[in-house]
Amino acid sequence: MTTGSIGVMPEAWHQVVAASTAILRTGAAACPQTRDVGLEAVDGVLLAWFRRHARELPWRRTRDPYAILVSEVMLQQTQVERVLPRYLEWLERWPTVEALAAASPADIIRAWQGLGYNRRGLNLHRAARIVARDGWPDDLTRLPGVGRYTADAVRAFSFGEPVLPEDTNVRRVSERTGHRFGPDCGQALMDLGATVCLARIPRCGICPLAAACPSRGQRYEPLRKQSRFEGSFRQRRGEALRAVAVGGQPDDADALASLARDGLVELRSGLAALAD
Ligand code: SF4
Repeated sequence: MTTGSIGVMPEAWHQVVAASTAILRTGAAACPQTRDVGLEAVDGVLLAWFRRHARELPWRRTRDPYAILVSEVMLQQTQVERVLPRYLEWLERWPTVEALAAASPADIIRAWQGLGYNRRGLNLHRAARIVARDGWPDDLTRLPGVGRYTADAVRAFSFGEPVLPEDTNVRRVSERTGHRFGPDCGQALMDLGATVCLARIPRCGICPLAAACPSRGQRYEPLRKQSRFEGSFRQRRGEALRAVAVGGQPDDADALASLARDGLVELRSGLAALAD
């Protein structure tokens, strides 16, 4: 296990280290460095918690980079609960990167309906075509729609590379605790951030890191208000795309032009059709 180094361990972390010693001794199989009780012990407390409280998510049962990429792209801007059934349907329909590469863009756009931010679906399709043709690139960020976090998630959860993917949840827990977690802690931090160290009102009372966390008990204001979807241009685009997907001709010219710019629809002789 690799952890970041902190010159002087904050006093409060000693409590966590002490509390973790017992956990580490009983969890020797999961943490081979039980006698080296240092910063790894903080990670050990988190990982012990994770072994008891991990969310059961289907993309955690595979190391297939394609399946993990699908889950990460879907999760970029959509909640886990909404992604779950769609992820399973997607993999049933397109179980391999080659199968997805062979699909038409129109099929992808139809299948993505309801997940929002439809460009993600098209980018995933383009990425699948590149991987099916050339294999997985060394630098995954060269794939369409794959940013630093998504690339690191595939590297860590599929290829087993020692990298900590930093999504919003991971960053939040790291910032609040002031601790640099090791790469083995990615999924544990995601679950802690999603279920305990919540953005506005963290549940410090049940947090395994509470004894030492300098942010324990704090409340947070929302950083920004979510812009209203109702009545937004995004909503109009979604409605226009749904109509085109079933063969309709919506009369919202601005929405259609915007969809065409994103490559989601094609406008031919004044008629809209899904991109193909
Ligand atoms: S003690 Fe509270 S603020 Fe600190 S990591 Fe736990 S839930 Fe987050």
